[in-house]
Amino acid sequence: MNKPTDGFSAEIDSAKTTHLTEAVKTIAFSRSAAACGVADASLFGDAPLGFRPDDILKGARAVVVVGLRTPRSVILEAAPTVYTRAVFHLDRVLDDIAYRMALFLEDKEYRAVPIPGRGLNMAAISDELRGDLSLKHAAALAGLGEIAYNSLLLSPEFGNALALSAVITDASLSPDPPFTPGLCDNCGRCAEACPIKAILGPANVDKERCRNYYRMYVDIYKESAGLYFCRECRKTCLARGR
Ligand code: SF4
Ligand code: SF4
Repeated sequence: MNKPTDGFSAEIDSAKTTHLTEAVKTIAFSRSAAACGVADASLFGDAPLGFRPDDILKGARAVVVVGLRTPRSVILEAAPTVYTRAVFHLDRVLDDIAYRMALFLEDKEYRAVPIPGRGLNMAAISDELRGDLSLKHAAALAGLGEIAYNSLLLSPEFGNALALSAVITDASLSPDPPFTPGLCDNCGRCAEACPIKAILGPANVDKERCRNYYRMYVDIYKESAGLYFCRECRKTCLARGR
């Protein structure tokens, strides 16, 4: 039987964990995040080797995922350059939140690595079009939504309008339950809307074709350094209220 003091220490630990989790989420919400959840780092077993939280930070225990809402009007109506600039802006804000969170955790003597909204370091090494950590998978494991047919994160409150960043840490935080899928009904409209038919099946996008498509516009969209982020699959789904 545990000594009374053991139960007391467990209660104190649990209160500390809850308090730290709330403090970390407050950093996100106080900087205009629409969503913030915590994924248990041990649940990333399906991710490829080299792209799991523990590959990035040894001893990782939690992944905090931050979601910022892209204005619906920007996705649905804005000119391509405006949309592309909005994507870059959201990335900057997301990076700022992730860095502040990492510094906060370090000040509490934990280790923490921010994962930027557009973090393709490992992709550059491995020549793969994937980020250091799949933010969409992390978001699903943190309870923020599901990965839809068009491979985008689909949230119950914000549709596919969330942009993401994350922090991997060895701090003990209270994990949120992973999201139970059921929002995407596989209607296939996003695949029909894709101008180059790069959506091959459920959560199966030919990423290279998709990337090459928006790079075709390098001579036209000089204002956004030649980048034009296509969003037809995103728009179609958001427009139908998913
Ligand atoms: S358009 Fe239909 S199939 Fe595509 S992601 Fe939305 S709900 Fe799913
Ligand atoms: S972003 Fe554009 S090119 Fe890429 S899959 Fe979606 S609709 Fe197709």
